[in-house]
Amino acid sequence: MTDLNAFVTRERVEGAEDGPLAGKTVAVKDNISTEGVATTCGSDMLADYVPPYDATVVQRLKDAGATIVGKANMDEFGMGTTTETSAFGPTLNPHDEDRVPGGSSGGSAAAVAADEADLALGSDTGGSIRCPAAFCGVVGIKPTYGLVSRYGLVAYANSLEQIGPMAPTVEEAAALLDVIAGPDERDATTRYDTRDGHPTEETTYADAVDGDVEGLEIGVPTELVEGADEAVTETFWDALADLEAAGATYEEVSLPSVEHAVEAYYVIAMSEASSNLARFDGVRYGSSGGFDGNWNEAFSEARSEGFGEEVKRRILLGTYALSAGYHDKYYKQAQDARSWLKRDFDEAFEEVDVLASPTMPVLPMELGESLEDPLTMYLADANTVPVNLANLPAISVPAGKADGLPVGLQLTGPKFGEETVIRAGSALA
Ligand code: GLN
Repeated sequence: MTDLNAFVTRERVEGAEDGPLAGKTVAVKDNISTEGVATTCGSDMLADYVPPYDATVVQRLKDAGATIVGKANMDEFGMGTTTETSAFGPTLNPHDEDRVPGGSSGGSAAAVAADEADLALGSDTGGSIRCPAAFCGVVGIKPTYGLVSRYGLVAYANSLEQIGPMAPTVEEAAALLDVIAGPDERDATTRYDTRDGHPTEETTYADAVDGDVEGLEIGVPTELVEGADEAVTETFWDALADLEAAGATYEEVSLPSVEHAVEAYYVIAMSEASSNLARFDGVRYGSSGGFDGNWNEAFSEARSEGFGEEVKRRILLGTYALSAGYHDKYYKQAQDARSWLKRDFDEAFEEVDVLASPTMPVLPMELGESLEDPLTMYLADANTVPVNLANLPAISVPAGKADGLPVGLQLTGPKFGEETVIRAGSALA
C-alpha cells in the first residue's frame, strides 16, 4: 500500500492503563503540543520544535488511556483546504490517491479513513476538521467555541478555532469529544453552557447517539446549497430524504449574510494570523536565520526561509488589513459582517433545530489543482466558515458517494447544541 503521508512524525506515546479510550490509537494534528514529541505545524519554521508540555487535550487523551501514534500532517499553520501547503509534502486521499484529503487536518482524516489510527484530533478555524472529514468519508465535529481547551494549540486565528474529534463513526467521535470537552483553568475562554447545566455533567455526548430524529426540524439554508456542484447536491438531498424517512422534517431557510462570510472570514483569520505568527522570528520561536549585527535582517531572513508561500501571503494581507488607515475599511467591516451572520443564525434557530447543508460544495480536488489559485481554494470554504464566524457547533457525517468519492453532510446547531447535531448525525452514519 502506498504511504499516504498522513503523519509528519510517527511516535507512540502510551496513555494511562485504564480509561474510556484504553486500547484506542489516536493521531494528533501537528499543531497540538505534545511533550517531548516534535510539533511542526507542517512548517519548516518549526521542523525542530519539541514542546516541553502537553496541550490540555493531549493530557486528557493520556488520562483516558489512549495511545498516541503520531503527529498528523496538515496545511502549514492550518492555512489551507487541501493539506498541500505542508512543508512535508501533501497527504493523499485514501479513496483516490490522485486527490487531496481536504485540509487543513488532512493527515488526521486520512489516518482514520485508512485505519492508521482509530481516532484523531484536528483543529477547525474555518472548516479544517469538517472539510477533510467530508473528503475522506469520516466523521468530524467542530465544537462550540469555548467547549474544548485551546491550551497548547499553536494559534492561527484564536477567535475562530477549536480542537475537535475525528472518527469512523458518530459514536466514536462523540466518545472522544466526551474526553476532551470541558473547562480548563489554562484557557479562560473555556466554559460550560450555563443556561441549563452542561450536558456532560449528567449525560455524555455518546448517549446522544441514538439516531432518534423523530420530530426534528431541519432548516436547509438555500445559500449553502445553491452554489454546490450537482454531484454533491444530489447526494446531499438523498441523505436528507433518509433523515426525513427517519421522522425529521425539513424546510428551506435563508442566511442572507453568508454571502459575505468568506471575505469576512479571510480578513479576520489573516489579521489574527499576522499577529499570532509574529512570534516566529528565529529568536523567540522558530529556526534561526543567523545574526550579523542587524535584528531586522535576522528576523526577515528567518521568516523568509521558514515560512511557505501561503503563510507569507496571509501575514502580508493580515498586516495590511490591520494597518492604520485600512483597519476601518477591512477589519471593522469584517467584524460587522460577523455580527450580521450571528444574527442570521439566531433567527434561523428560532424556526428550526438544526441546519443542514453539504459540508463542501465540491468533491475532493485533484492534487496540485488548487495550489495555483488561492481565491478558488478560499471559496471552497463557503459552507464551513460561517459556523466559525458564529462560534457554533457542527458535525460532518458521510452522506454517501458521488463519482466514487465521499460527500459530507454538515449539521449545524445552536451554541452548545452538540447533543442535537450528534443525535441527528447518528441517524445517518
Ligand atoms: N481553509 C481555511 C483556511 O485556510 C480553514 C483552515 C482551518 O480551519 N484551519 O483558513
